[in-house]
Amino acid sequence: MFKKILVANRGEIALRIQRACRELGIKAVMVYSEADREAKYVKLAEEAVCIGPAPSGLSYLNMPAIISAAEVTDAEAIHPGYGFLSENADFAERVEKSGFQFIGPTPESIRIMGDKVSAKQAMIRAGVPCVPGSEGELPDDPVAMKRIAKAVGYPVIIKAAGGGGGRGMRVVHTEAALVNAVAMTKAEAGAAFNNPAVYMEKFLQNPRHIEIQILADKHKNAVYLGERDCSMQRRHQKVLEESPAPGINRKLIERIGERCVNACKKIGYRGAGTFEFLYEDGEFYFIEMNTRVQVEHPVTEMVTGIDIVKTQIMVAAGEKLPFTQRQIEVRGHAIECRVNAEDPYKFTPSPGRVTMWHAPGGPGVRVDSHVYTNYFVPPNYDSMVGKIIVHGDTREQAMARMRTALAETVVEGINTNIPLHRELMVDAKFMDGGTNIHYLEHWLEQHKR
Ligand code: ADP
Repeated sequence: MFKKILVANRGEIALRIQRACRELGIKAVMVYSEADREAKYVKLAEEAVCIGPAPSGLSYLNMPAIISAAEVTDAEAIHPGYGFLSENADFAERVEKSGFQFIGPTPESIRIMGDKVSAKQAMIRAGVPCVPGSEGELPDDPVAMKRIAKAVGYPVIIKAAGGGGGRGMRVVHTEAALVNAVAMTKAEAGAAFNNPAVYMEKFLQNPRHIEIQILADKHKNAVYLGERDCSMQRRHQKVLEESPAPGINRKLIERIGERCVNACKKIGYRGAGTFEFLYEDGEFYFIEMNTRVQVEHPVTEMVTGIDIVKTQIMVAAGEKLPFTQRQIEVRGHAIECRVNAEDPYKFTPSPGRVTMWHAPGGPGVRVDSHVYTNYFVPPNYDSMVGKIIVHGDTREQAMARMRTALAETVVEGINTNIPLHRELMVDAKFMDGGTNIHYLEHWLEQHKR
């Protein structure tokens, strides 16, 4: 096992990884930008290294600074967390070439999955069902483009091969709008992702977003840890997540889970990963794979009792998965609310000094957050400042616990989206379960204020 790991991230996930290291008896080196000097995990750290000024391009995305921090502290491995460099194949390669273990899949796996066109092709070959669409990259020729769209059937969605974070997508309803929409998406994709390639998918009208968590080791073992329902989204960004997904036949989940496990074995995948699907009318359609730990991993940890971050570290060190598929049991129900520093209805970011922070507690309640009273939320990064996660024997109990937890939570000095979560937890449709990916946008439209 490693003696020392460098954590190349910030915020709640940096704290989460630090905690996993502590449990494993591993020293965690924390890196921080000048804006994060006061972070809880930096203060708690045995070792911490400043890697640059606040802008992430100069710090959390600064590969040479991160690798030299690992060198000067004698770390053996680097955990990238999520976001920043976590899905950057060049970074993974540089980490390994510098003699450190990258806690994640191989650079080749990241490269294949990072390009959504090659990811889909790999999945089709591995027998994972995908959203119908163009075979590979969309051609520039308008006639060929129109022919493909006609075969797929309108509405279609044009997506950037290098896209992420809900950006680089455009829905097209008619042939008249197609050529222009493709040109615009290509231009945006080139500017935002440095890759103008786009592809086409059928735009599913009322799908749910269901994803499968997998874990794989370096010895060809792989398992799936059930599913998560992440349909509650705004601008293609997840707002709350739960596991299991309400109302989906367990046999269907088993079947898709096994397909994912087989795909992992086929592509030689190692570490934690997530297969994201759209689910409509009893069918799963693969959309993309995330080759890292995800924000919403705690709901899976709560229902399976498996520590995903600890397992990531163990398999990166070469250990075998400590459980088989048959030993994995999904028990009860878990829900996660993402706490964002933003206006709950207008969504404008709300960084600044947190004058009062009181986290909820009690049975089945978990809070993953680096925030404390008097903490300053810097304006330079993502607005998510923490997550409230609950577990219950049933979905009803989990919702009741979340209502209590949200009622107990006090955050003063900044705005958060907690009022929105409080409303959603008593929304009749959400309480019924199974709302689709458009539900929250419609709800916000109806509850405009
Ligand atoms: P990103 O990498 O930016 O997160 P994804 O491919 O995972 O992009 O898609 C994000 C979200 O966009 C999905 O959860 C879903 O809400 C919507 N979406 C993507 N593809 C489709 C599609 N073919 N039909 C309908 N909605 C889609």
